[in-house]
Amino acid sequence: MFNRRKFLGSSLLGIAGSIIGKKTIASPIHNGVTGKPIVISTWDFGKPANAEAWKVLSTGGRALDAVEAGVKIPEADPNIQTVGYGGLPDRDGHVTLDACIMDENGGCGSVMCLEHIVHPISVARMVMEKTPHVVLVGEGALQFALANGFKKENLLTPKSEKDWKEWLKSSKYEPVINIENKLANISTSTAVMPGSEFNHDTIGMVALDAKGNLSGACTTSGLAFKMHGRVGDSPIIGAGLFVDNEVGAATSTGVGEEVIRIVGSHLVVELLRQGMSPEDACKKAVERIVNRNPEKAKTLQVGFLALKKNGEFGAYAIQKGFSYAVKNGEQEKMYDARSLF
Ligand code: ASP
Repeated sequence: MFNRRKFLGSSLLGIAGSIIGKKTIASPIHNGVTGKPIVISTWDFGKPANAEAWKVLSTGGRALDAVEAGVKIPEADPNIQTVGYGGLPDRDGHVTLDACIMDENGGCGSVMCLEHIVHPISVARMVMEKTPHVVLVGEGALQFALANGFKKENLLTPKSEKDWKEWLKSSKYEPVINIENKLANISTSTAVMPGSEFNHDTIGMVALDAKGNLSGACTTSGLAFKMHGRVGDSPIIGAGLFVDNEVGAATSTGVGEEVIRIVGSHLVVELLRQGMSPEDACKKAVERIVNRNPEKAKTLQVGFLALKKNGEFGAYAIQKGFSYAVKNGEQEKMYDARSLF
């Protein structure tokens, strides 16, 4: 049931919680302001990921280590069909993963269309730290991973294989808005795919550590049933993730092609630099997408999250239903981002 969450009004800084299902969802906020350290990440699976990142942040660790540790949680979870192991495959049945990471020094690493490795984020970090390059793709990325001790594994779970075979019956290519919420609410016995949709959702995580340094990570299996070789925004520095330690960090989720066209996360950080609040900066980026093609935008979801150097955070999406998770010393909460539609 996507869009099942209630839009709870628009009080500035309102955090009047409301119980929906088993979760407490705070009402949309204009901009949260908190102290450091803090970690924020996309979607409901961001909550356990943040908890893992928090183990690093709360003990004085580096934001870079926190975001890597955090996003490894959904990467390893076979029940999350949009990230890592268990991700839905491309139209040819290959699970191809995209990930990138960026640190406080402007260092960055990325892997695209990587198969057989459960933790692409760690390979991306190794690209950043052990090579003179920023991006490795496909077979070359796999060779690099294997040469550096990563294990070759089958990432296609029986559940995702079944869903792919179901999808093959119609092979239709339509986005499903907020598919992460939808998948989470479908009982395991039924086919997850009605057979006429393709699906997405990424974990993007940004963190500010106790020393005041920012880092970010972004990892996904991309659009389900995509063309073989398709890469979205998530592993593209500046599109799916951007960190500038002087200003802030941003990440995105949703239909990657739209984010790439506006170099979305970089745009958000540049707007922060100009003095915008995180929510306003994310909203501006969303408007940039929508204004280019308002009709098409009605059928798309894209969401951005941003974290400023001072700990201020915010998010915005095209459609309702983009949830994000926030964890710091005072709170561990899910928020619903405000949206244009
Ligand atoms: N942005 C991802 C991609 O386009 C998918 C998503 O976040 O929904 O690959």
